[in-house]
Amino acid sequence: MTHFADLSPYSYSAPTPPALNVGWLSSEHEYSRGPTPHGLLPRLRELAKNPENVYRGVHFCELCPTLDAAGEHLDSEGLFLGSGEIWVTGSSEVAYAAPLLIVHYVADHGYLPPEEFCAAVFEASSGSRSGPGTGL
Ligand SMILES: [Zn+2]
Repeated sequence: MTHFADLSPYSYSAPTPPALNVGWLSSEHEYSRGPTPHGLLPRLRELAKNPENVYRGVHFCELCPTLDAAGEHLDSEGLFLGSGEIWVTGSSEVAYAAPLLIVHYVADHGYLPPEEFCAAVFEASSGSRSGPGTGL
């Protein structure tokens, strides 16, 4: 799928509010790995339940060894991860845009998102989330 470097300006589905890319991983680019911050994954999954920018196309994970394996990971405990994005805004008013597959990247490929993104996720899930799709 389309690759964007972490914290590069988001431009995938313009026009949108300014945002920075996180988690647009590709098999052709190295990515940051490390221990997952405690509690990050459940919060990402929570945000993934209300995705933004859901497209008709389906993105498969390029990091999985086979397309079959990638296909199985499109469904994560009932969450469909193949389309859509997670948008979070941190306390510094910076917005981040990540593909839903970031849930799978963190859970299964050891991806460690930038610290400022993790901070924004923790802030967002504690009730300060803003923007379209906030819903329930
Ligand atoms: Zn994968």
